[in-house]
Amino acid sequence: MNRKSFLKLTAALPLAFAAMKLKDFGQLTDTLETSDTMPVLFLGHGNPMNAITDNPWRKSWVELGQKLAPPKAILSISAHWLTRGTHVSMNEYPETIHDFGGFPDELFQQQYPAPGAVDYAKMVVEQVKTTPVHESFEWGLDHGTWSVLKPMFPEAKIPVFQMSIDYYKSPQYHYDLARELAFLRTKGVLIIGSGNIVHNLRAISQNGAAPDWALEFDAFVKEKIENQDHQSLVNYQQSGRVAQMAHPTNDHYLPLMYVLGLRNKTDNLQFFNEKFDLGSISMRSVILG
Ligand code: ZN
Repeated sequence: MNRKSFLKLTAALPLAFAAMKLKDFGQLTDTLETSDTMPVLFLGHGNPMNAITDNPWRKSWVELGQKLAPPKAILSISAHWLTRGTHVSMNEYPETIHDFGGFPDELFQQQYPAPGAVDYAKMVVEQVKTTPVHESFEWGLDHGTWSVLKPMFPEAKIPVFQMSIDYYKSPQYHYDLARELAFLRTKGVLIIGSGNIVHNLRAISQNGAAPDWALEFDAFVKEKIENQDHQSLVNYQQSGRVAQMAHPTNDHYLPLMYVLGLRNKTDNLQFFNEKFDLGSISMRSVILG
């Protein structure tokens, strides 16, 4: 089954959402407002329909957007911009990209008309030294970006740019590259990695029950993040079959490498949306800040 068919299948399934408790959700985000250093977020985005469906994931994104101090700009590193080499989007008016198939017209009509963040993108091109960062005019905002930003910042006034994922590079490369982006956190830039901690579209199930391997990998990632054991997460493939099942391809895992690479030792950690959607998509999300 090709990817388009998967997406069609996903769209056809009724969404199974467990009741979620956003316990303590407000505590950390309240403290973020007074921070000079911007938080870093890993957002599990899941099904593109989450952008317009009333569900607990989307509700969390709305709430988070209301609690965060307004950023000057947003950098999104999305699972859906995979390239050879590392690129940043330089468009002054980035297009809303509907990079999926088989969804209702309503989803294709969605727009997120945020301005670009060209000055910040240029800063990244200039500051990153270990690898060339290429200027790109060929990307806009893909659904990994706009499906979460639209609920978070519905006015679409905050400038946004994306950085691509060099799909020919190792997790270590992405983790190391992220460390060179740390300066943005003190310049008012909110950095978001948008993917999923478990993402296997071949294993989605209608009743939404997560299989053991999915629960195991999700728990593994949670525990390593809690213990600041980033190296185990960079080397996640050493977990063998469980890792292979959680990420048959690692496009949705790699954005997490950026979030971990940007972590300060003193950052507070909070998880939210700690549930699975459709059995094999972990919506677990992370706030560091
Ligand atoms: Zn995705």
